[in-house]
Amino acid sequence: MVVRPTTGMAMVRRGAPLEPWTFERRDLRPDDVAVEVLWCGVCASDVAALQGVDEARLPLVVGHEFTGRVREVGDSVTWFAAGDLVAVGNVVDSCGVCEECRAGFENYCRVGPTPTYLGTDRRDGLPTQGAWSGEHVVRDRFAHALPAALDPAAAAPLMCAGITVWEALQHWSVGPGRSVGVVGLGGLGHLAVRFARALGARVTVFTTSAGKREAALALGADEVVVSSESDQMRAQGRLRARHRRR
Ligand SMILES: [Zn+2]
Ligand SMILES: [Zn+2]
Repeated sequence: MVVRPTTGMAMVRRGAPLEPWTFERRDLRPDDVAVEVLWCGVCASDVAALQGVDEARLPLVVGHEFTGRVREVGDSVTWFAAGDLVAVGNVVDSCGVCEECRAGFENYCRVGPTPTYLGTDRRDGLPTQGAWSGEHVVRDRFAHALPAALDPAAAAPLMCAGITVWEALQHWSVGPGRSVGVVGLGGLGHLAVRFARALGARVTVFTTSAGKREAALALGADEVVVSSESDQMRAQGRLRARHRRR
């Protein structure tokens, strides 16, 4: 079997700083794409994974929101060719046959989707390793064409933080005439503000830090409520009650 060596930043022993570690990606299956990782976000769950991982799962390479360039494709891949820009998130495989998978909700796969790292590959049983590495190999249907107009560095976090809040906005059909409250202006929150604003909704940010007011307004929030100020929270309650009575 031909394998594809690559180097990642790995935690080799619990609590140790990350260090370069050379490991092998699988040889391409007919429906695989090999992606040269260009950019990968740093997600809070990467940090949590590194802090909580069992010794038995080490070495561990994290990273599950990345953009890159296709290096090579498997024999039956028709959607991508070498050189294409792609983006990949936190799911690299799923059962493909359950109700959720067939509806395009592979992240809700009844059997459980395969995560980009700390998962077990469904076919070879080997642990998956993340994208803080030179190359990743994924099933073609879990790579997404990256539009040329999107900056690949800025687009990488859209594959985790971005899609997490986007899904909620879509679920509630957020658009003009709707009001959205965003609790916390962190990695997910700031993207929620920008998406909701771009969709035409009125956006209120709830934050415990008064110091984030200017940043929230600059990102497009219509209103900022400092949630540790009880007067401001009470005023919101009255506003919502009035809104409901209408
Ligand atoms: Zn993430
Ligand atoms: Zn499934």
